[in-house]
Amino acid sequence: MKKYFLPLLLLAVFETVAVTLWLTRDNLFYLFNFSYIGASVSLGLFLFIKKYKYARRAAQLLVGLYMLVYLGLICGENMQIEGFWYYLFTGVFEAATIHYAVAKIFGPLLFGRGWCGYACWTAMVLDFLPYKVPQAHGKKLGWIRYVTFAASLLFVLALFLAHAGHMEEIMFWAFLIGNALYYALGVILAFVFRDNRAFCKYICPVAVFLKPMSYFSLLRVQCDKTKCISCGKCKKACPMGVDMTDNSRKRKNGTECILCFECVKSCPKDAL
Ligand code: SF4
Ligand code: SF4
Ligand code: SF4
Repeated sequence: MKKYFLPLLLLAVFETVAVTLWLTRDNLFYLFNFSYIGASVSLGLFLFIKKYKYARRAAQLLVGLYMLVYLGLICGENMQIEGFWYYLFTGVFEAATIHYAVAKIFGPLLFGRGWCGYACWTAMVLDFLPYKVPQAHGKKLGWIRYVTFAASLLFVLALFLAHAGHMEEIMFWAFLIGNALYYALGVILAFVFRDNRAFCKYICPVAVFLKPMSYFSLLRVQCDKTKCISCGKCKKACPMGVDMTDNSRKRKNGTECILCFECVKSCPKDAL
């Protein structure tokens, strides 16, 4: 049972959130929502342990499609960053604010950037592109994410200052147009940089929350130095350019890790 500890732990955490929100918010939706997400991510990890090749992709599609199609398109919830700002400024602790609190602000203290590896609907599409292992790392373009972060904040602030009407409608269209732009830009950048995750590394505003919080993540890849033979296979397999053989918190690109476990799969000595 020891090897199933992680999926069981995550299931328990999500179930605790689900029941707590259900009872405190008196809304059955939260029980369904967080139970479904927790079960999907745990299933992905369970399948990974069982060595199913597409385990992570299965979780990514289960959660990503649910959030994009059901919550976003059918229920009209803007779960993008501008939706978060909007609900935060209106003082509404509902879907988008709860989603950000759990997946992107406080959750990463426990499971790092697991959101980016197992749930994000943008990466869900980008991960189908051909450059799973990037041709090169180290472009110094990460500053762009701070510009997009500020732009999302200013966009929502401007709407409030202008006393714009039909805000819910505007947020729905912002969700549609924002997603279309993200996908288009993500695909173009993937081909330009020969890196499926170029959008995540340079543009995505959400990483402004994710990176500092995941620095302290409890769950992280560690290297057993007594087993490691420094063959370098793990670094070659990593989509995010992480130096996972360095166990310190300050390791190279440590806050980029999306917990995809490609490094773990590639290690011939089971050192990770
Ligand atoms: S960095 Fe942004 S786009 Fe990439 S997986 Fe994370 S949240 Fe999604
Ligand atoms: S390959 Fe390893 S270090 Fe790189 S992102 Fe995936 S889990 Fe993290
Ligand atoms: S793949 Fe394994 S043995 Fe090779 S460098 Fe990485 S941790 Fe060490």
